[in-house]
Amino acid sequence: MEVPYLDLSFANLNHKLALLAAVERVIDSGWTILGKEVEQFEMLWASYVGTRYAIGVANGLDAMIIALEVLGVGPADEVIVPSNTYIATWLAVSRVGAKIIPVEPDITTFNIDAAAIQKAISPRTKAAIVVHLYGRPCPMKEIMEMAGASGIFIIEDNAQAQGASTDGQMTGSFGHINATSLYPGKNFGALGDAGVITTNQKEWSEKCRVYRNYGSQNKYENELLGYNSRLDEVQAAMLSVKLEFLKENNVFRAHIANTYNEQLSGIDKVFLPTLSPGNVWHIYPILVERRDALMSYLKENGIGTLIHYPIPAHLQKAYAHLGYQLGDFPIAEKIAAEILSLPIYPGMRPEQVEYVCEKIKAFFKK
Ligand SMILES: *Cc1c(COP(=O)(O)O)cnc(C)c1O
Repeated sequence: MEVPYLDLSFANLNHKLALLAAVERVIDSGWTILGKEVEQFEMLWASYVGTRYAIGVANGLDAMIIALEVLGVGPADEVIVPSNTYIATWLAVSRVGAKIIPVEPDITTFNIDAAAIQKAISPRTKAAIVVHLYGRPCPMKEIMEMAGASGIFIIEDNAQAQGASTDGQMTGSFGHINATSLYPGKNFGALGDAGVITTNQKEWSEKCRVYRNYGSQNKYENELLGYNSRLDEVQAAMLSVKLEFLKENNVFRAHIANTYNEQLSGIDKVFLPTLSPGNVWHIYPILVERRDALMSYLKENGIGTLIHYPIPAHLQKAYAHLGYQLGDFPIAEKIAAEILSLPIYPGMRPEQVEYVCEKIKAFFKK
């Protein structure tokens, strides 16, 4: 049996006619960038997440950079980020010239929490970026209370958690200003690059619109050093179609995660992710000491897996100038050494899930 790590056919092919109709609507309109489709999608996303404003941009990294710009984060400031995240979280901070302050995650949730952030706060701290890594929401209520008391801004990096919720509220709606990637491989993604910013502050939402379009509100008048980070009409039109299916797709993922947790719970050499209600399971991560051997064994048996992520940001060549060394962030390093992401996607058949479980059990019996 073949089990790919990810198969997007359920997410896109299944809705081919509706997606084509959306594309046709854009072609017929004769308008391709920042028009009615973008406005429509922004309204849908804001109401889905529960914020007053949503601003479509070109990708998730830009969404975070623009969020930092709008908060006025610059070279004099420190920004707290998780030591274990996709490098985009760090890059956004680097792009605005601020100092990166990495904080280790909790090994059982893979996320940072209010106490960990608080310990890293200095007089120069302006903001913290919290990442709902692998689809699991961070404890946002506590984080926002702590931030309020400490006077720092919170940005949610919601790239892996579209549709997740905690304390009865959607992720992407807690932070002062939040960034969501809509990259094709995320739980909710376009058919190309896309991203969206959410906030409840009118002034910030307007500033985001100016930043994404060359710092310009009126054509050829530039009030800010802006970006070219606009959302395409064709992507927005397709996103509006796909948003209808996000909820059921996340339920599909949760079923698979439940099966993995049930089936794999007896193996004492495998550390399973703990179940939590608002998790949307962008990734199903397990920790295994013999990770590379397990990965090859599964590959030989037709099962695709991935590592999120093999090199922590502090050990990347791009960050050599920060002077970090192996041993500086042991939890991030342990995750990088032991994590394995099992296949999980809407449309994955029950027999495929069973097969993955069987092969993992067989590996540990050898
Ligand atoms: C995918 C991802 C991003 C970046 O999104 P792009 O749309 O590719 O720029 C940022 N943060 C995290 C945690 C991600 O997984």
